[in-house]
Amino acid sequence: MRRLFKEVPEHLWRSYRWQVENAVTTKEELKKYLRLTPEEEKAFPTVTRLYPFAVTPYYLSLINPEDPEDPLRRQVVPRVEEVNPRLQRDASENPFNEESSLPGLTHRYPDRVLMVVSNFCVSYCRHCMRKRLFKEGPRSRSYEELKRMIEYVRRRESVREVLISGGEPLALPLEKLEFILKELRSIPHLEVIRIGTRLPVFAPMRFYDERLLALLERYGPIWIATHFNHPNELTPYAEEAVERLLRAGVPVFNQTVLLKGVNDEPEVLERLFRGLIRMKVKPQYLFHCDPVKGVLHFRTSVRKGLEIVRRLRGRLSGYAIPVYALDLPGGKGKVPLEYPYLRRAEGNRYLFESPLGGLVEYEIDEGP
Ligand code: SF4
Repeated sequence: MRRLFKEVPEHLWRSYRWQVENAVTTKEELKKYLRLTPEEEKAFPTVTRLYPFAVTPYYLSLINPEDPEDPLRRQVVPRVEEVNPRLQRDASENPFNEESSLPGLTHRYPDRVLMVVSNFCVSYCRHCMRKRLFKEGPRSRSYEELKRMIEYVRRRESVREVLISGGEPLALPLEKLEFILKELRSIPHLEVIRIGTRLPVFAPMRFYDERLLALLERYGPIWIATHFNHPNELTPYAEEAVERLLRAGVPVFNQTVLLKGVNDEPEVLERLFRGLIRMKVKPQYLFHCDPVKGVLHFRTSVRKGLEIVRRLRGRLSGYAIPVYALDLPGGKGKVPLEYPYLRRAEGNRYLFESPLGGLVEYEIDEGP
């Protein structure tokens, strides 16, 4: 039963277009649905001058309007911590050196390429590691830019997989999405297309569109990497979206970010991972929160993360437990927080073996 928007008929509620067109984007609108704390009221204009705000009615309806600490609310409602210079210290906006000479393209591992195709999202996560992209205002890559990225992949036979990400790639018009998928699929050495999307969480109705499902099926193998962070996000609507994807032959896996005040408790993550497995979504990664400017206040300590994962072992089947991992600074790759990648831990100083070769010393502070 919906807590909010009870007057909206079910056929509109199930419309992706309606959800996007009715996304809440201003403080005044938001206040109709949630009682903002004085701190949130004050922070809203300052934060949103720097980082955009939007939330779909669907996601808003999952938030308990009476609870200022609601874990879903923390993911979408701006807080002053995002722009507090003391808390965000001298953090970088792009600590992992994403991008190369071609705008939107990152080629870090020999066999994989990342294509960032838009900087528009239907709802904006306060913890997004690509917050920097949103400063330019919403736009998607032009056909010319996309062609250049695709040509790059075509000319490199070592590339077996392309990750299409954003922003929200599946918010692109279907014609543009089809252009990308069709062109990529015409590259003989490219085996797999992976799409990173948070639409199963923010607007699962996107996947009730048979035309989108047909595209994904036609240009497969395509894998969907999604981003559920809390069990309250596992709704019958989300379950229907996953079911439809699976029927179209599109496997779905999940990448959770460990976020202070959202999911940094073993009981919460246990419920999340159990629920995902029930929905036939494989929990792939539990990421340690990246040290990105505007996000530091979501960071827990690595020790706490390791302890949570230890508690999950024995309580969950092996396949329900994701790999706890982090991104090494300077574009040195993703590493599981386990031996042999994690070689040494002393206080908050860690020594990792990079998957790209060499050892990396990394000082990892808990957020403020
Ligand atoms: S949906 Fe993805 S890209 Fe968009 S704000 Fe959230 S984490 Fe960032």
